[in-house]
Amino acid sequence: MVGVLINRANLSSAKRIVIKIGSSTLTHKTGKLNFSKIENLARQIADLVNQGKEVILVSSGAIAVGVARLGLSERPKTIPGKQAAAAVGQGILMHTYEKIFADYGQIVAQILLTKADAVDRKRYTNCKNTFMALLAQGVIPIVNENDVVAVDEIKIGDNDTLSAIVASIVDADVLIILSDIAGLYTANPQVDPDAELVAEVTDITIEIEKSAGGAGSTVGTGGMATKIQAAKIAVNSGISMLIASGEQKDIIAKLMQGEDLGTIFLPKETKLQFRKRWLAFGARLKGKIIVDQGCEKALIERGSSLLSAGIVSVEAKFDIGATVPIYNVFGREIARGLVNFNSQELEMIKGLKSSEVEKLLGHKAYEEVIHRDNMVILV
Ligand code: GLU
Repeated sequence: MVGVLINRANLSSAKRIVIKIGSSTLTHKTGKLNFSKIENLARQIADLVNQGKEVILVSSGAIAVGVARLGLSERPKTIPGKQAAAAVGQGILMHTYEKIFADYGQIVAQILLTKADAVDRKRYTNCKNTFMALLAQGVIPIVNENDVVAVDEIKIGDNDTLSAIVASIVDADVLIILSDIAGLYTANPQVDPDAELVAEVTDITIEIEKSAGGAGSTVGTGGMATKIQAAKIAVNSGISMLIASGEQKDIIAKLMQGEDLGTIFLPKETKLQFRKRWLAFGARLKGKIIVDQGCEKALIERGSSLLSAGIVSVEAKFDIGATVPIYNVFGREIARGLVNFNSQELEMIKGLKSSEVEKLLGHKAYEEVIHRDNMVILV
């Protein structure tokens, strides 16, 4: 659904959904897991998967649960202390999810990420491939930051931001952030009785950023400020984002039916428009792919993806995920896009039919050298 903007009216058509659940939603005030809430959320997620949707869950709670299991009176202040708590808590979290989701016939998988997985192209692509392989098998990936190894400088730092990064890695249609806050308010509802819930945001203005303030609750890392940061990442990737209360029963199902709950942040451009603009003007180019006239025609006139068969030659070295310009045989740049193979592999498979590629490389992660959605035509 890369070409469609998701809003409340068509939310039920969203296919790939990232749901972030915060520590305060998963745990009691004691820091111990709130099983009835987790059960309710898991049942709703399982229902979405049974409807044919793909769901990725971003779950906090490792540190909070670890702190409770270790019997500590408060969250550790030192990095090793937090890491130790996360190492204990992450196992408990996954054990709980595995058990509860299994009751609803679902398979879960653990994915722990650090900042490097988001900024390094190669790791980003590897990570994306793993997500895709899991989703293709109907598995629910459960993501958290790899707190055990991530110290401050390599940390994303909060799971609101992490969930937006995940949404952009997997090309989600919508990101739903569930927390103890029902959405974005015009003022702080805890101190201002006139504060009103904002149903829809189309522009994240400086006023909104200012009013979001700092972190709110004591168990998680995120307050409204990190949620606004997350919204900026999401909408700038063409992904709609919702903030709603994880306290409300059946909240996910209600949101998916388009009920007017929480706050929705709407992107201005679809994922496709955004990506194409970025490809055309924002990306750093690497190498060159030269295609024959048949292929040129297919790309320009028929809107095809770039396949190995049409490639005449490959220039310079580039990695998987690089943005590579496509030239015709007369030396004119006709398109550019993100490659699914590196230059050495392309050197081997140029001119070959897709069916021959797997035989030669021993693997074939992709049918297309550059998928249509990751390509912009320049002529
Ligand atoms: N990764 C942290 C944890 O699982 C949570 C970070 C956050 O709450 O934003 O405990």
